[in-house]
Amino acid sequence: MSDYDTVSAEVEHEEEIPEDHPRYQDLITRHRIEKGVEKGITHLQGMHAEGRGSAFDYLLGEETIPSANDAERAAAAQLLLADHPVLSINGNVAALVPAEMVALADATGADLEVNLFNRTPERLTAIAEHLREHGADDVKGLEADARIPNLDHKRSKVDAEGIYEADVVLVPLEDGDRAEALDEMGKTEIVIDLNPLSRSPQVADVPIVDNIIRAVPAITEHARELADADDDELQAIIDDFDRERALEAAEERIRSGDL
Ligand code: ATP
Repeated sequence: MSDYDTVSAEVEHEEEIPEDHPRYQDLITRHRIEKGVEKGITHLQGMHAEGRGSAFDYLLGEETIPSANDAERAAAAQLLLADHPVLSINGNVAALVPAEMVALADATGADLEVNLFNRTPERLTAIAEHLREHGADDVKGLEADARIPNLDHKRSKVDAEGIYEADVVLVPLEDGDRAEALDEMGKTEIVIDLNPLSRSPQVADVPIVDNIIRAVPAITEHARELADADDDELQAIIDDFDRERALEAAEERIRSGDL
């Protein structure tokens, strides 16, 4: 076994992972999820989700494919054009990209809302605190005084002034049932998910098949570039984006194995 093979289990801080490691990004991702579990912000099930994502990312070549970049630009346009955009944060999102989600919220004027599948007061508080440590001022989701229709009680909780009221929602790594229920509420949904066949990207208006670690900074960069764009220009970017083509392009890349 090489030194590289053992690196993930041994490191305490992610700076110890060598940047020239061939699976650098994957090791960083795993390390952050492990830390998230230790810190009580990520559920153990989040580790399984990460494992599934990692396999798809490997097949995508661990890069942002052109159709994902188009989706990221369309997502930025949707968030900028929205009346009330909300970015949803679960335990994996908080562990992987806390500062990046805060930066995206700043660039688009969106709210941040903690939205958990396995919801406990301890995890909610730990995630909100973690986001504040990474620069967030206002974190929604702690009240959860409204319900998404057609979901069981525990999984349906959202903030009345957050996701419930939002017109555009970014729901990365979202559970399929909830993505479907949000779609039925008429939300414009932006989903980040490495599996193009998963139900969440299948129901999304803007499915982004990319690793969240690359996707969120990319959306922020597009949003900054488009900061002075007028509504017609933003709408044209949204109209040009073809969700079916984006899903097909990702599936084609994964199936062809053409890295
Ligand atoms: P469904 O959406 O149909 O319920 P699922 O049960 O596989 O499918 P979940 O376990 O709820 O989905 O969510 C995990 C999803 O997140 C998987 O599709 C996985 O590919 C994706 N995923 C995991 N890690 C990442 C990541 N770092 N970036 C983007 N997507 C990821």
